[in-house]
Amino acid sequence: MEKLYSDEELLMISGIQHYYYCKRQWFLIHVEQLWEDNIYTVRGDVLHEKVDNPFILESRKDRFISRSVPIVSYSLGFYGVSDAVEFMVDSEGYYIESKKNYFKVIPVEYKSGKPKKDNCDAVQLCTQAMCLEEMLDIKINHGFLYYGKTRHRQRIELDLTLREEVLELSKAMHQIINNDRIIQPDYCKKCERCSLKNLCIPKTKTHYKSVKNYIKAKLNDKEDLYA
Ligand code: SF4
Repeated sequence: MEKLYSDEELLMISGIQHYYYCKRQWFLIHVEQLWEDNIYTVRGDVLHEKVDNPFILESRKDRFISRSVPIVSYSLGFYGVSDAVEFMVDSEGYYIESKKNYFKVIPVEYKSGKPKKDNCDAVQLCTQAMCLEEMLDIKINHGFLYYGKTRHRQRIELDLTLREEVLELSKAMHQIINNDRIIQPDYCKKCERCSLKNLCIPKTKTHYKSVKNYIKAKLNDKEDLYA
């Protein structure tokens, strides 16, 4: 795989969820470094706390599971942590010296809610799989999405269409960063559930070029009051 991005250019895989929900939300969190919790984010965190324990290593006869696996792809420009990776004994799989055996590698992503209408969970899972493929020089055909609300795990085939979506997304997200573009708010129904509503102020008519500028402007207003 061709290395297209440097360490400094890598974007967080978790940002894909935000980008799908709203480009502005992704921009505020991952470029402007702003974050505020609400009930939906807290619910997700609780589920992840149970999963993100790097010391948990479940082992059964024909498989073992690694939790919170760090992953990276320099051809996609993404890095992050996979919730869990299952290793199933498979004679055509990836050889693991410490286990003296070959394993099929299957990424698993946990979500607190239920399956969504859009493709963002599958795209995130596919990105994780593509990272693992690059790191281990293997091919991964499928992964699983586990939904906390329905307590059901859904098998996702990592086909060409999904992979192309990941590539397009990577290109678009990096282009925004490279072009120094500011993503402006666009008020819609989703804003009411958004944890960043108070920081984004999507209904304001004056759109500042950056959130930093907005905060600076507000601070200047306050200073004027005390002048
Ligand atoms: S408040 Fe609305 S426009 Fe602003 S980040 Fe959230 S969803 Fe996006």
